[in-house]
Amino acid sequence: MAFLVRSNLRQLIVILALLSTLVAVINMFIASAKVQKQALIDNTLLSNEAYASKLADSTQAFLESALLELAYSAKNIAQNWPQKRYLNQETQRLSKQNYAFNSVVLSDANGVVLASSDNAIELHGQILTTPGPLQALKERKPLISQPYESSMDNLLVLISSPIFHENGTYLGYIGGSIYLKEKNILSRLLGEHYHHDGSYIYVVDNKKRLLYHPDKERLGSAVHTNPLLDLALSGGTGAKAIVNSKGIEMLSGYAYIPAAGWGVVSQRPADATLNAHEGLMQKILLHSLPINLTMLSLIWLCAWLISSPLRQLAANAKNMRQRTTIQRVERIQAWYFEANELKHAFLHGLQNVHDHVGQLRQDVRTDPLTGLNNRRALERILEKCDITQTFFSAITLDIDHFKHVNDTFGHDVGDIVLKELAFLMRSTSRDQDFCIRLGGEEFLILLPSCSLEVAADIAERLRLDVEKHEFTTVGKLTISLGVASWPQHANSTTAVLKIADEMLYAAKQGGRNQVRTAPLPKID
Ligand code: GH3
Ligand code: MG
Ligand code: MG
Repeated sequence: MAFLVRSNLRQLIVILALLSTLVAVINMFIASAKVQKQALIDNTLLSNEAYASKLADSTQAFLESALLELAYSAKNIAQNWPQKRYLNQETQRLSKQNYAFNSVVLSDANGVVLASSDNAIELHGQILTTPGPLQALKERKPLISQPYESSMDNLLVLISSPIFHENGTYLGYIGGSIYLKEKNILSRLLGEHYHHDGSYIYVVDNKKRLLYHPDKERLGSAVHTNPLLDLALSGGTGAKAIVNSKGIEMLSGYAYIPAAGWGVVSQRPADATLNAHEGLMQKILLHSLPINLTMLSLIWLCAWLISSPLRQLAANAKNMRQRTTIQRVERIQAWYFEANELKHAFLHGLQNVHDHVGQLRQDVRTDPLTGLNNRRALERILEKCDITQTFFSAITLDIDHFKHVNDTFGHDVGDIVLKELAFLMRSTSRDQDFCIRLGGEEFLILLPSCSLEVAADIAERLRLDVEKHEFTTVGKLTISLGVASWPQHANSTTAVLKIADEMLYAAKQGGRNQVRTAPLPKID
């Protein structure tokens, strides 16, 4: 709390703005991080799904054309059965015309190899008892076998077509093998997909055994941990984030190959995708930095502009007694509503204070009965004359036999007399002269820059004016006066008043209703 009281408005606005900017930036950052992250994940899932689907289509197309090609050959072989030369020629053509098969075998209905491609020549004349050939012989239909170990220790898949004579007799089958652990048509179709970022694809048969995988050691083994395989093998296409057998989160797309009942999975580690995200967020931060800094500078400027009139008002409030404060406050640019209201309220208050102080000052120096200056005012006047070395003359005066007035007409009538005398004093003296009631019915007229002679004349004129005046209720009255000048008659300004008093006393002694002027010191 103490900290808040010490902070100025500008700091508070800047802190407030800083906090809100910070919250906004963090909020924007977190929100955009979430959105970006989700977008990256969604995109990766989508592209993996599209990729798996495309690979499934290509593999499907290959398998269909391989089956068609074998069926076509089977038909031709049936027509030329059992010409050895033709059987050999057709087997060679199938193995060499394209890269579809790693090896080709032609078997009769008993499983005896009648012809084979060059790389399987040792099978010639043998009866094949491995699962693929047995399945072909048994099912007597176009088929793609389960993966199996061949007699030559190859892990392979056999694609075969039965050979039927025109009369419907089963003659045997023609089959093309795909060696899964060697370079084969699948690896050509699927490409080498073992990327540095950990992305890869794999293909499984309907028993989830790996037919294609970047890690050749795993070929033939079954994958049971991936829930996507069930989805893929049930004919679905889609994408999902899963954790693989090594505990790595993978963004996987999957698709089904209907011709063989296989499934394709294309996947990318979530971390590889999200690494790009980190870089992206840093860039967002970096790009938003100039705007944020500009915004902060603008806020600082606004805070300065908002606090400026208040600060100036506060500074002036400390100097309320100075007369120039009002002018300074009037010059403050209070450019918005509240500051302007405050400025005008302050000016109004200031004006009131000055008026009241002026009035009080006036009251303190004024005699309430006559409205003349009092003794306090006299002190100031003398001080001023002393400081400015302004010479002056002083006329002291006292009503003759005033006690008698009070006794005869009462105190109130006496007061009226005092007021009328004050009026006569004012009208006889000059504007620059000071009429002062010293107390009771004793008065003083202080005449700045006025010679003794002129003062004596004024005193005489006043005496005559009073003598001629008809006082209310009382009628005629007289006054006695004493005159002296400063610095002729005394060194100090107060001492000269005493001399004037002595002159007044002398006038009383001399019979009253007269002016006595202090004699000028003789100049030798
Ligand atoms: P002198 O000619 O010698 O001056 O005679 P005096 O009667 O005027 O004597 P003095 O000046 O000593 O009398 C002062 C009188 O002034 C006493 C008092 O009754 C009267 N007085 C003093 N102050 C006031 C006042 O404020 N109002 C009224 N009505 N009378 C006052
Ligand atoms: Mg008196
Ligand atoms: Mg008197």
